[in-house]
Amino acid sequence: MVNYPLQLWWFVLSLIGVCTLLHGGSLVRRYWRLRRARLALLAGESQKEGEPEQEGRQDASSWRHLSASISTVWKVVLYRSTLPISWDYQKRMSVAELLFCGGYLLACLTWAFVLSTTGNGPVDFANRNAWIALWQTPLVVGLAGKNNIASFLTGVGPEKLNILHRAAGRTLLILACAHAFGRYQIGLSGPHAIYQPIMIWGVVALTSFALTTVLGIRWFRAQHYELFLCSHIVLVFLFLLGAYLHQPPYYYQWIYPSFALWAADRLARLFHLLIFNPWLPRSCRAHVQALSDCTLRVTLQRRMRWRAGQHAYLLLPFVSRLPWEAHPFTVASLRSPSASGAGGGGGNELVFLVRARDGFTRRLMARALKEGGECDVTALVDGAYGAPPRLEEYQTVVLIAGGSGVSYCLPLLASVVAGKGLTKKVLFAWVVRRETHLGWIADELAAIVRAVPAGLQVEIRLYVTNSGKPSPTRMGSFTTIESASLAGAIPDAEAAATDMHGVAALVRLPQVTLAEGRPEVHGLIKQAVEGASGPVSVGVCGPSGLSNAVTTVLTTKDVISWGNALRGAPVVDLHVETFGW
Ligand SMILES: Cc1cc2nc3c(=O)[nH]c(=O)nc-3n(C[C@H](O)[C@H](O)[C@H](O)COP(=O)(O)OP(=O)(O)OC[C@H]3O[C@@H](n4cnc5c(N)ncnc54)[C@H](O)[C@@H]3O)c2cc1C
Repeated sequence: MVNYPLQLWWFVLSLIGVCTLLHGGSLVRRYWRLRRARLALLAGESQKEGEPEQEGRQDASSWRHLSASISTVWKVVLYRSTLPISWDYQKRMSVAELLFCGGYLLACLTWAFVLSTTGNGPVDFANRNAWIALWQTPLVVGLAGKNNIASFLTGVGPEKLNILHRAAGRTLLILACAHAFGRYQIGLSGPHAIYQPIMIWGVVALTSFALTTVLGIRWFRAQHYELFLCSHIVLVFLFLLGAYLHQPPYYYQWIYPSFALWAADRLARLFHLLIFNPWLPRSCRAHVQALSDCTLRVTLQRRMRWRAGQHAYLLLPFVSRLPWEAHPFTVASLRSPSASGAGGGGGNELVFLVRARDGFTRRLMARALKEGGECDVTALVDGAYGAPPRLEEYQTVVLIAGGSGVSYCLPLLASVVAGKGLTKKVLFAWVVRRETHLGWIADELAAIVRAVPAGLQVEIRLYVTNSGKPSPTRMGSFTTIESASLAGAIPDAEAAATDMHGVAALVRLPQVTLAEGRPEVHGLIKQAVEGASGPVSVGVCGPSGLSNAVTTVLTTKDVISWGNALRGAPVVDLHVETFGW
């Protein structure tokens, strides 16, 4: 008999293999680019670095740029063209994600249904669906883990692979339903009577999985994350147990690896907790400070390593309701050995900017406010996760942040300023609702701007959308607000909690401009791309409206087109970070 599940595994492994090769290729390419550029600098030939780009900007089409042109079309069509998946049109999926999920389902259905009759009627069809459904359990479980091998091989962060975890889960459910339907067609009698233990366990497995899929829909997850998480753990365990006991001698081979993958991820996380956190509870402290009515700064010192843009899980046992409750937050600071700072415990200082929402974060805010705006709490950290871009290979870097999304963009800016990459120009735009919010990172931002080395041009544009003054809609109407008028616009209570001296000092720096209203992202990105003579990276993190606007700009013809790429216009890469999955 043809081993269909094995064929499907080869298919998945080949996909992972292709992605691994692409990832490996990009790492090698970046290594050589950086090495060549650094050697040229060392040899005092830095002026030659610009030559290929200048050559590349000539108008005549050149076959040399054919691959860049194809890659531009590829990125625009697959990664930047999106379709809405929520009623408010804000949650969107890229064509690549849709194709991947749809293609995967189609492949599974093809293996499950095509040529599925060998003369035994529904028996063939029911059994094959069961096998193909079951073989996916290790994949579904493996893709859910924060420490998963697919992420390591492909360079795609676990938070982004989560979409495939859900796609594989939905496919499993469809195939399991098809199996149940086939079984029903065959007839539920004799050893397959519904009261037989193997059938009861089958029903338990299917019902649990169906329930967890329904509870996993985006709306429910967003509204009741903790309930979703608890039910998910219980129901997935019931599913695995039910499947294990449904056909004991046959299904072990898929269920054991699933449990093993789950246990490996949990052990890795436990290991992180043990090695990154002090063992004495009184040393496991974090300092929490309310920065505004909706934002907190959490500072702790741990012996943890991370890259700019990565995130870590915070566990605050006396704030959370569930003992294992862990929430992901992006590390807003750059890793640097430091002996001082709040929290204690030695090691690197991790800073998180936490937006207070309804659950855990709201309780943390309440705790800080109850203790006069600042408090110390017991905290554990697990990380670091995620695969943020390495910006040193880009000549121009554009970072656009909205609100607490600055915790992703700020360390990236700091890493470019501190690094020895090829970057020559950085445009950092940060949109906040109120001027006081600028105080969250005013000192850090000013320190970064002051540390900018010669040869790197950094421009900081700050936007306040709710200053109570009329908002300009065009870039041309930027105004630099003097620190005195700035301080006057801040509500008293919040101004007291905000370091306005820091904000005033920041906006006085020549590289910094402050404007009212929303940024005109189209003009902002277009200007940066037109002024670039080498690869451009555009990174965005903030509300989905902002991310969608930036993504759309990078599909418009006047900013990016295959024709321009063919004429040698710079390659433009987009990196979108969303605080959720
Ligand atoms: C990779 C990543 C990085 C993030 N970085 C930051 C950051 O730097 N600053 C910041 O303010 N927020 C960040 N977030 C969002 C932050 O994790 C959630 O806002 C926080 O967990 C909400 O907790 P809550 O109990 O108050 O949420 P609720 O008010 O109960 O829910 C608010 C939203 O948060 C989601 N959420 C709740 N718990 C979790 C969880 N454990 N894991 C994932 N999502 C959850 C819910 O689905 C819902 O959409 C990040 C999220 C991710 C996935």
